[in-house]
Amino acid sequence: MPIPFVEPFRIKMVEPIRMTTREERLGILSRATLNLFKVKADDIFIDLLTDSGTNAMSDQQWSAMMQGDESYAGARSYYRLKDAIEDIMGFPLFIPTHQGRAAEGTLFSVMVKPGDVVPSNRHFDTTMGNLLELKARPVDLVVPEAADTSLDAPFKGNMDLKKLEEFIQQTGQENIPLGMLTITNNTAAGQPVSMENIRGTAEIYRKYGIPFFIDACRFAENAFFIQQREPGYAGKSIKEICREIFALVDGCTMSAKKDAIVNIGGFIGLRDPGLFEQLSGKLILHEGFITYGGLAGRDLEAIAQGLYEATDAEYLKYRILHTQYLGDVLEQAGMPIYRPTGGHAVYINAGAVLPHISPSRFPGVALANSFYIEGGVRTVEIGSLSFEHVDPVTNENVVPDLELVRLAIPRRVYTRSHLDYVGEIAGEVFAQRDRIRGLQVVEAPALLRHFLAKLAEV
Ligand SMILES: *Cc1c(COP(=O)(O)O)cnc(C)c1O
Repeated sequence: MPIPFVEPFRIKMVEPIRMTTREERLGILSRATLNLFKVKADDIFIDLLTDSGTNAMSDQQWSAMMQGDESYAGARSYYRLKDAIEDIMGFPLFIPTHQGRAAEGTLFSVMVKPGDVVPSNRHFDTTMGNLLELKARPVDLVVPEAADTSLDAPFKGNMDLKKLEEFIQQTGQENIPLGMLTITNNTAAGQPVSMENIRGTAEIYRKYGIPFFIDACRFAENAFFIQQREPGYAGKSIKEICREIFALVDGCTMSAKKDAIVNIGGFIGLRDPGLFEQLSGKLILHEGFITYGGLAGRDLEAIAQGLYEATDAEYLKYRILHTQYLGDVLEQAGMPIYRPTGGHAVYINAGAVLPHISPSRFPGVALANSFYIEGGVRTVEIGSLSFEHVDPVTNENVVPDLELVRLAIPRRVYTRSHLDYVGEIAGEVFAQRDRIRGLQVVEAPALLRHFLAKLAEV
């Protein structure tokens, strides 16, 4: 039964999208060496590749952009964003960057050295890539429930606190320059983390003197889940919950392309003036002066306004129900999906849809490609192609425990009928699942190989 919800906005500007034929799409995908990252956006009908930077900005954001101060140093727009970050997150200091991975890369370049270990509930691919490049070790310690695709539990993105403490004791805190936690947990099906778990994680890191940074890309969606699901939070505002989350940490890395509802931008939020000084030096070398960090003044304006819109309770309610609705239509089409649905995306258990394709033959990629061929719908694999890697310290091959296809929903872009269309295509794909074939890598870079890999059918 679909859940009734309604978009809390109306549409003032439209962007046409173009349908292609199945025949055309077969040729397009073949020329893209079976890798959807290499397909032109004009050849996509519904693009659920990512919710990152694909958002529709509001009239308020566009008008704020007109007020962008493009001064090289000390721009008014920088101070406007500084105030918004302090107001919503409580960080007195911040470093702007051109997107989330630059925030990670800048932070790690100062804090992390080869052989170091950085625990998290689950690292995102760019976080993992930034650490691997520094010859450091990303370690995922999410709760075991995260691997159960059907268990109905409120906070399956949580850190396994017992494992975290044992891990720190075994590794030695001197080898852990910082600890992380991703909210919501993107690579664990966008599942939220509870306030109790954030507090528990903070206590453990503090006990061992480890600085605690949150990967905060979807902090507002996570705050909404806390308000809806965690005892004691129903009466608190989203802003109060956000302030409570960030009061527990030393800093955050943020991709504004997610929960600041913009098309580009990111930042590091922090409290330590000494670290701020070190980061400033790095930033000037790689991203730009400390008051713009690779962004235009107008971008800083849009982020400041977007942070307020993303923490609006009515918007968040629509956002979460919209995502849940996509889960419902996919399930009605026969697709086994990860339950409960997360904040920004629905994840199909591709391993279960295509049991005849082993993880080393990338069932997630094969399923994603079928969605494109059948309906021009672009999705993305979250499985072995994206996350299999060699641990730089132990030399062991690390593989993910699930082969998923993620359907990420850009903010305020698609309507309910777009989602119904995706459901229809899912039904067609599901009906032909026995005919879908596995893939192999023909050529790929060593790091973040999924973006550029050339693939072929086996
Ligand atoms: C998107 C994302 C990042 C990286 O941010 P970019 O802006 O894409 O560089 C980091 N962590 C998580 C959890 C993300 O979803």
